[in-house]
Amino acid sequence: MRPAGRVVATALQEIRKHAAVGVSLTELDQLARGVLAENGATSPFLGYQPSFAHSPFPGVICSSVNDVALHGIPGPYRLADGDLVSIDFGATLHGWTGDSAISFTVGTPHPADLRLIETAERALAAGIAAAKPGGRLGDVSAAIGAIARAAGYGLHTDFGGHGVGHTMHESPSVPNDGKAGRGLKLEPGLVIAIEPWFMAGGHDSYRIDDDGWTLRSGDGSRAAHVEHTVAITVAGPQILTTL
Ligand code: MG
Ligand code: MG
Repeated sequence: MRPAGRVVATALQEIRKHAAVGVSLTELDQLARGVLAENGATSPFLGYQPSFAHSPFPGVICSSVNDVALHGIPGPYRLADGDLVSIDFGATLHGWTGDSAISFTVGTPHPADLRLIETAERALAAGIAAAKPGGRLGDVSAAIGAIARAAGYGLHTDFGGHGVGHTMHESPSVPNDGKAGRGLKLEPGLVIAIEPWFMAGGHDSYRIDDDGWTLRSGDGSRAAHVEHTVAITVAGPQILTTL
């Protein structure tokens, strides 16, 4: 699964370099399409239509700006000074899939946004560290939830992590909160996406736009989302979505 993960990491790195004030979300989507084409990979996002959506997803990235937490559709919106951007991207190569997300600011950052992003990244790292053979799935969930609560951020257990394999979304589901020591036993060979998303306002509610996809914080506060695809191995957790 590493080659698929490397394609994902490459695209996210390119997007991070290119994203700036005045750049449109469509341009970032086009950039990611280019990386897929160069690598002979396909998009598990494009045309994806799970049960909650009334139309297939039209892009290869999810681009979620400011109060949008997840599943933002890439469109003509141009990034503005101080925006908080989350980009979620997946690639399928030789029948295997990788899934990862990054959050960052463009232009002059708001200090509160940097703290939100740093906390989400710390929760991701804690979730990954807990993905050890012999542990339980609840260890990963609990590690993420504890960091969100300590920081006073809102979190919701909908739309959390998941198994990854030939397809993007497989069982088990990996909620962003839970009880340590509970749930599926973590065995070498299991691959999961771990993906905390937090809302700065501290409330746990969200709403979805009429497009059926765009998921916003219920209180209008900003949100951050980060993700890696992680293999559980006898040597411990290994991140697959890196260069
Ligand atoms: Mg993802
Ligand atoms: Mg995912």
